[in-house]
Amino acid sequence: MPPPRLYKTAAIVLKRFDLGEADRVLTVLTPHDGKLRLIAKGVRRPTSRLGGTLEPWLNLRDRLESAATAWYVGELAERATEEQANAYPVYAVLRRAFQLLDDGMAPGRVARWFEFGLADALGVRPEVERCVECDRVLEAGESFRWVPSLGGVLCERHAGPPVEVVRLSQDALKVLRAYRRLDIEALAALRLPGPVEREVEAAMRRFMRYALEREARSLAFLDEVRHVLPPV
Ligand SMILES: [Zn+2]
Repeated sequence: MPPPRLYKTAAIVLKRFDLGEADRVLTVLTPHDGKLRLIAKGVRRPTSRLGGTLEPWLNLRDRLESAATAWYVGELAERATEEQANAYPVYAVLRRAFQLLDDGMAPGRVARWFEFGLADALGVRPEVERCVECDRVLEAGESFRWVPSLGGVLCERHAGPPVEVVRLSQDALKVLRAYRRLDIEALAALRLPGPVEREVEAAMRRFMRYALEREARSLAFLDEVRHVLPPV
């Protein structure tokens, strides 16, 4: 049987670039066919009926940090998925992250929540309860290190790889555990000191860099945006 000529699917635009006079090449993430590369013919003509439907999340354009975060989570999703391979868990967590950003939730909380959700979807959930080496549950107040290349926390009984050993405060570990246990509404309501939040951010960036085997390009832009904007 010949393949059908027409497909209908939900999709999130991950990447785009203009082609020729009026066309645009899109990389989209679909719930069941993974990542797809498409040519949207004539989409840049003012009369195109497709144009509007391919530019979602309009509210985000008014808020630079939310928009930069949307780019960041989109880039992580893009790197984490294969073409034409089922990626439903990644699609679902990305769609929710975009909705949360669009609704005005704090971008940092959404970004961390997404990183945890993406790591889960990829089967590389960060270990924040047990030592990654001896599998022992860390006791309260026990010293430990954060070792992204090993997948999480390492107790003090082991030397660990010298380069990637990172100190993490007890408070930051508590927040990482909260990301494991709480839903996004509860996470958004947490009151956290700025330094702890930044520690958690740095820890998860390192973790994602290992999980996806490279640094996200969008991070430089996100950092720049936050540098020029006053903290909220
Ligand atoms: Zn151990």
